[in-house]
Amino acid sequence: MGRRFQASMFNVVVDEQENGMYLYNSYKGLDSIKEVAPAAREKVKDYLSGRKVDESDDPILNELIENRFMVPELYDERADREQLFYEYTMEDTLDITVHTTDACNFRCKYCALDFKTNVISKDVQDRIIKLIARNVNKYSRVHIDWFGGEPLIGIDAIEYISEKVIDICRKAKKPYTGSITTNGYLLTKENVEKLIKSRVANYTITVDGLKETHDNQRIYMDGGPTWDRIIGNLEGIRDNVKNRYISVVIRGNFTKEMLKDLPEFYNLLNDKFGKDPRFSFFVRPAGDWGGERVKLIADHLMPYSQMAEVYNYLAENQKDLKCIINLYNIHTCGAMCRSNKKNRYVITSYGKVQKCETCRPEHEIGEISKDGRLDTDKHLEAVWTVGFRRNKREQCDECPLSCSCLWGNCPKIGVLNPKDKNCGYITEYKELIKLAAKTYDVETLGAEA
Ligand code: SF4
Ligand code: SF4
Ligand code: SF4
Repeated sequence: MGRRFQASMFNVVVDEQENGMYLYNSYKGLDSIKEVAPAAREKVKDYLSGRKVDESDDPILNELIENRFMVPELYDERADREQLFYEYTMEDTLDITVHTTDACNFRCKYCALDFKTNVISKDVQDRIIKLIARNVNKYSRVHIDWFGGEPLIGIDAIEYISEKVIDICRKAKKPYTGSITTNGYLLTKENVEKLIKSRVANYTITVDGLKETHDNQRIYMDGGPTWDRIIGNLEGIRDNVKNRYISVVIRGNFTKEMLKDLPEFYNLLNDKFGKDPRFSFFVRPAGDWGGERVKLIADHLMPYSQMAEVYNYLAENQKDLKCIINLYNIHTCGAMCRSNKKNRYVITSYGKVQKCETCRPEHEIGEISKDGRLDTDKHLEAVWTVGFRRNKREQCDECPLSCSCLWGNCPKIGVLNPKDKNCGYITEYKELIKLAAKTYDVETLGAEA
């Protein structure tokens, strides 16, 4: 008797009628996406409808099998998903975020900070160096993400720690990489040179729309504008930095005001940076990240679901400047926040340890000791990496996106509010699949039909 097949539980079919039909499978992630040829659509829908199908020499059926849209009858797909979960969460990169300061030179309207003035002390810097020196051989590679406040206020600490850690990793023959999330105001030529020397390769800089909207949301601490200087600094990187291996992500935190300007904003960024493949665009809704200030602009915040409009626009009008980071959400495990990972830690400017960079002091899980040991509460760590997820497993067992989020799109919500049923990604995935199909000009399934 021949074999029988059934549709994978991780399939998503996006049928936009005359605007195309796309297939996606969250186990295979971005690489799975295919456009379906018009003549093959009815047959594909029938094969994927849930019925069992006997093997045959139908090329459409065989393309669906080869691309994992159909799997053998009784195939245990949950085992594959479980395996992904362990591979991802136990990955052996030491991935740390260091807050060089809690201070900032901006006063953004949605910022949750209470604007302290502290900068990371020499003592904490030395603890971080010792932590890496004594543990480097346990990991396959080391990554530091510089964060704040505004991390460039602590540029001296970035230089000092990087120099030592680069040397430690070189001697241990372990790759080292760095990244930074900055408001961009202090990204002067001199600071960029220091960062490149410190092996900072990935830069995320926020620009909230056209000058008027940005200057209204992202205000300098004296109340002044910031847009011109940030754009000037980005142009400086484009024109003066010869290193081809850096990447610059321009992040827009969307409020309702920014939606109407989206075409003009995207075209402006594309004109300025689209020809330089090191630049990309990343869009997020400005959210309530805590604190009191954001309450003043509560009416201007956009729900996540409204991002569908933004992705749709970008899918239909995409030019050279791509939205690569947004597409991570549909990579295999891509919507899972890295705070789920066992070897992922956030180190505050006081030397305390957390799992997420937006946590408050009451959510610390430990500290780095004087001699560079991670003194953490193992139970609290376990709650972040595996514990909170138990709630969601039952609720989300059959979700086709579960190999993308693995129930961990925001562990902070799950850990702090164990009864929360929030799902942050379900609303706009269809638009992301379309955006990915246009970005990568994917293959057509059933082209011979
Ligand atoms: S730049 Fe970042 S840290 Fe500074 S005020 Fe704005 S949101 Fe807050
Ligand atoms: S949290 Fe949302 S996207 Fe993730 S598995 Fe559950 S329902 Fe799916
Ligand atoms: S845990 Fe949630 S808030 Fe923290 S970094 Fe992850 S997604 Fe963001």
